[in-house]
Amino acid sequence: MFPSAGGAGASLRAQAAPGLGFGRRQCRSPASGRSVLYVMIAQSNINNGVAKTGVPSPSELASCPGMPSIRRMKEGRVSVIECVQEIPCNPCESACPFGAITVGDQITSLPVLHEEKCTGCGACIPGCPGLAIFVVDQSRTDGFAVVEFPFEYLPLPNKGDRVTAVNRAGEELCAAEVLSVKQRKAYNGTTVIGLLVPIAYADEARGMKRLARRDG
Ligand code: SF4
Ligand code: SF4
Repeated sequence: MFPSAGGAGASLRAQAAPGLGFGRRQCRSPASGRSVLYVMIAQSNINNGVAKTGVPSPSELASCPGMPSIRRMKEGRVSVIECVQEIPCNPCESACPFGAITVGDQITSLPVLHEEKCTGCGACIPGCPGLAIFVVDQSRTDGFAVVEFPFEYLPLPNKGDRVTAVNRAGEELCAAEVLSVKQRKAYNGTTVIGLLVPIAYADEARGMKRLARRDG
């Protein structure tokens, strides 16, 4: 299922850089092979919070009841529910077949993840109209993590494609490899993409850069 550490993974490792922060980073584009400059502006608005930017801040995420513990993340696939605004919404609760998400009678309550019940199946990802749910696997021992997210753009990537992972604000982060492209009847038209990213980006990578349209 996963590429061997010596194959595509090794190529991605060569492009990885430790940590996140301001600045610029020179990487080789997996698509074109050309050297490209990623401008690291990922932290620019990050502290302003979801109400101002649409992107949850680190403090909002830290207090979010949908976030799994670090211990659970390192055990394997688990849902990461980045829902930080108290809005009347709860389809994630019924989307989980294992009772691992509860909103409760007060529909504006934030969803709570019961991490011990979560199998990492991913059924909740397309069940969230706010595109706020991800599945992350940090249990690998090869320096990479898997991040799954909803993707609603065309064209879709293919398994094995080299793409650019983006952060919550849609800003470019790092090279990544497409591990899975899931389209199921129960997903109601939402595609779930799984990316292999360097482990340093596991907490930041939450999507991929849109692909150019293949016209004609
Ligand atoms: S990943 Fe599966 S088990 Fe975990 S919360 Fe989502 S739907 Fe439930
Ligand atoms: S479905 Fe999504 S937006 Fe709605 S409460 Fe659940 S996580 Fe939040």
